[in-house]
Amino acid sequence: MNFTIQNVLIATVDDYATVDVQVVDGAIASIAPSLEVIGTAINGENKLLLPGFFNAHTHSSEIWQRGIIPPLPLELWLAQLYDFAPLDTEKVYLSALGTAVETLLSGGTSVVDHLILIPGKELETIATAVRAYKEVGIRAFVSPLIQDESLSAGIPSGETEQNHEPFFRSTQATLELIEEAVRQFHRPDEGVSLLVAPTGIQLCSDALFQGCIELSNKYNLCRHSHLLETKAQEKLAQQKYGCTAVEHLKRIGYLGDRTSLAHCIHLRDTDITILAETQSTVVHNPLSNLRLGSGIAPILKYRQAGVNVTFGCDGASSNDSQDLLEAIKIGSILHNVTDLDYQHWITPRQAVEMASSGGAKGLNMVDQLGSLTVGKKADFVLYDLTSLSLLPRTDPIGLLTLGRPTNAVESVWVNGRQIVANGKVTTIDVDDLRQQLFQHSHWDTKRKSETVAQLEAHYRTVMSL
Ligand SMILES: [Zn+2]
Repeated sequence: MNFTIQNVLIATVDDYATVDVQVVDGAIASIAPSLEVIGTAINGENKLLLPGFFNAHTHSSEIWQRGIIPPLPLELWLAQLYDFAPLDTEKVYLSALGTAVETLLSGGTSVVDHLILIPGKELETIATAVRAYKEVGIRAFVSPLIQDESLSAGIPSGETEQNHEPFFRSTQATLELIEEAVRQFHRPDEGVSLLVAPTGIQLCSDALFQGCIELSNKYNLCRHSHLLETKAQEKLAQQKYGCTAVEHLKRIGYLGDRTSLAHCIHLRDTDITILAETQSTVVHNPLSNLRLGSGIAPILKYRQAGVNVTFGCDGASSNDSQDLLEAIKIGSILHNVTDLDYQHWITPRQAVEMASSGGAKGLNMVDQLGSLTVGKKADFVLYDLTSLSLLPRTDPIGLLTLGRPTNAVESVWVNGRQIVANGKVTTIDVDDLRQQLFQHSHWDTKRKSETVAQLEAHYRTVMSL
């Protein structure tokens, strides 16, 4: 559908301008004052139009455990997460809808779902998430989370002799599964892309990484992974490879300009140089890193080294929300305490650019997404500048990123299709979603994780606790 937004505020290089924006066939056709109205006229007065942000790393089905996992570091938190992971696709469907809705209503138009697969129902899990994202209309980058080593292998052995159960599915079977998923669901033109996404060096063999590289080359897929989220993983890399994880990933050829890496907390300066040289993207998940005590990623160093950085919420049980504006706010101001030189701090406009074009770069789509540019796809968000949280009138982008915006998203378009209007998602029934989430869950305060009990003593020993 064609439309023209009239008299809307957009950001220019260092100021704002009031313009009209014409959209024809899903793309931005023209941006200038006083344009002829093509298609439907939309009143943009007292509204700010920004390119859609990327929720560049999350795990949708974690919604079912948000708020319940006690304060634990990643390795033990994961044990609890997997002990209670939802095993039916109905829940996968509902949590993908929930993730999409919360992303849209906090300024996102794209989501990278590092999707946890139900054992034995892997393709069904992927099909279900794809269906949910298509129904909502958000642009989806579905990244099936794979590994070929069992959970205990992710903890360094230290001085002890550890035997790990083999993973239940072979490396080859996993790669075949991903290839089949790509054949069935990778449809970038329809707004759904698949990524290869080994969970990380802590639980994946080189054979799995290499198989993913081959699939990525064969089908032109982006690559995703967790990277050095915890101190334990840093130790594990030394134990496994005798070098840093970044050096190893470079050696096997996993890094590159279509590779995005979530967390990137425990990197050395030489690793940062490698990320810059290979043009890899860092996905910053500040809330999850705080929640799990993982650390503060050296984001200012990345920016100074020329590494592309964007933001993610991470899964909703290590956050415990999917509010992208919150991730952008914390992910910006958190670093002010790491560098006395305030000239290095992230400005609101830089944060917006990281969240939009930074995300597009990491997914190799910067020629099509990530900015309000004629010819690019119409993935953008209209903010209501008369919302209480964006008043009084000061600097709109400053208040949007440093404030606590509520009900600020007025409309959202993805590929020129309006999927949020008057602050409400129009493609699905959100009241019904609320009811379903309620009915499929129960209040819970007493659950205990057996795997945490098994792993905790060893974890404390190797981490010298
Ligand atoms: Zn993650």
